[in-house]
Amino acid sequence: MGSKRRGSDRIERCDSCGRTVPRTKAVSFVKKSYFTTDLRTNDNVSLATEIEVYYCISCGKHRKIFEKKKKLLEQQKNRGAY
Ligand SMILES: [Zn+2]
Repeated sequence: MGSKRRGSDRIERCDSCGRTVPRTKAVSFVKKSYFTTDLRTNDNVSLATEIEVYYCISCGKHRKIFEKKKKLLEQQKNRGAY
């Protein structure tokens, strides 16, 4: 009893407040960021990268990430209706 292996839990840092949270409690969210050099020539470079960030539960609530995730899930369900 009471010998939980806490070391096996991966720790993530909240992207908003910097608090460390175990991954099981963290709220993951995929941020899409676009990078472009804004050159009006053929040298223009544009990149779309996806970064996975983690928030603690309170920040997740505050930033309405749960609602966003719900919406995303609903969209996926609507698209992939079998
Ligand atoms: Zn936080």
